[in-house]
Amino acid sequence: MLNRYTILYIDHDPTSRMLVDRTLRYAGYDVLTAARGLDGIDIARSEHIHLILTDIDLPDITGRELTTVLRSDRRFAKVPIVALTDLNYSEQRDLAMAAGLSGYITKPLDVEGLPKQLEFYLQGGRDPIDKERLVQARSRYNRELVAQLEARVRELEAKNKDLTRLDQLKDTFLQITAHELRTPLTLIYGYSRLLQDSDSIKTVMELDPPTESLLDGLVLAVERMQAIINEILTMSRIMTDKFDLSIGPVSIRQIVSKIAERYKEAFIGRNLQLIVNEASFPKSIRADADMLEIVVDNLVSNAIKYTPDGGSISIDTTTDETHVYLRIADTGIGIDESDIDLIFERFHTAGDPQFHSTSKTAFAGGGIGLGLAICRGVIEAHGGTISARSTHRDMTNPPGSEFIVKLPLSPQIKPRQREALT
Ligand code: ADP
Repeated sequence: MLNRYTILYIDHDPTSRMLVDRTLRYAGYDVLTAARGLDGIDIARSEHIHLILTDIDLPDITGRELTTVLRSDRRFAKVPIVALTDLNYSEQRDLAMAAGLSGYITKPLDVEGLPKQLEFYLQGGRDPIDKERLVQARSRYNRELVAQLEARVRELEAKNKDLTRLDQLKDTFLQITAHELRTPLTLIYGYSRLLQDSDSIKTVMELDPPTESLLDGLVLAVERMQAIINEILTMSRIMTDKFDLSIGPVSIRQIVSKIAERYKEAFIGRNLQLIVNEASFPKSIRADADMLEIVVDNLVSNAIKYTPDGGSISIDTTTDETHVYLRIADTGIGIDESDIDLIFERFHTAGDPQFHSTSKTAFAGGGIGLGLAICRGVIEAHGGTISARSTHRDMTNPPGSEFIVKLPLSPQIKPRQREALT
């Protein structure tokens, strides 16, 4: 049938959309609608459209700009694009034709006449325009486009500035909050340790044994809070470049055995096997020992957290002429491909935060999503990279993950940090 055409109608006004939709459907057309120009472009690109009817004043881009964008795509070179607009001035009509529209229909809508008008464009018809006027309108339209572009670039720049300022405010807020919390927390920690050691409390504990576990629980909780606060402070130092690398000879073996000792209880308690290929480690590399320890600690504690009981975690390295590659692999729940790069962003935690326990070693216990961002900051400051490999996330059939830290054998330190070292 002649009329089985699909028409895309773009207009911000819902009443117009409904009216045109009904009119055209009644006349036998298929109709798709959009309220914004960019949505209209998306629909036009993904559907087979025979004619586009568009308002000129749209909330994002104008009907003219939409036409220019579509006309630059060969698929839309011949598709009729027709304006349906309130702008009833010949100047506006000329501009629309200069932008590449095929026709210009003004409101109020002629409900009965519209299908006939559209049929004209569908058969290849075009509104006539005087050559001289078209040339003038084209140069006006080009000027308008350039001015628009400039205004949008300025708008984006201003927004970008605002966002950067907000981001800095957020960092400062976090840093100050963490500092403010650290002082009273240190006091609480000190008092709790004093209580643990006090003779009178020891007597109470002998008479009432649960008191001891209450006190132990208190100390553990405070230690956990201190760890979170330290994580935030380390992160803000890294983000603001306020940390100085102290490069010297580092033994990966020493760092790994220190961390293995630190998490011994978790390995035993969760029946996890730690396989360390010591023979593969280079004797010594040049790095910041404390910072590298933070990285290995984070990677191992993550591997513990995300590996079900009974699994294994292996650590080994390979070395070439320029780099050492430290690999920490686990048999854990894995990471979805879409998350692989995001997990190195600050505060990105994959999985549902609802199920996070804040334990550093319990299975699937989560944190605040800073660990890997800290690792990346530290490794990049050494001139290295950190990456993750996994296929997907599966709690029941864990596919495992591996993290690879690539460190230069002779790290290139940023000038600021070199200054700090001398
Ligand atoms: P968090 O404090 O949440 O552990 P991280 O920055 O250390 O923050 O990790 C970010 C996210 O990356 C985690 O929430 C987790 O989903 C994912 N992740 C990190 N390490 C592993 C791993 N070994 N196995 C599976 N997922 C991991």
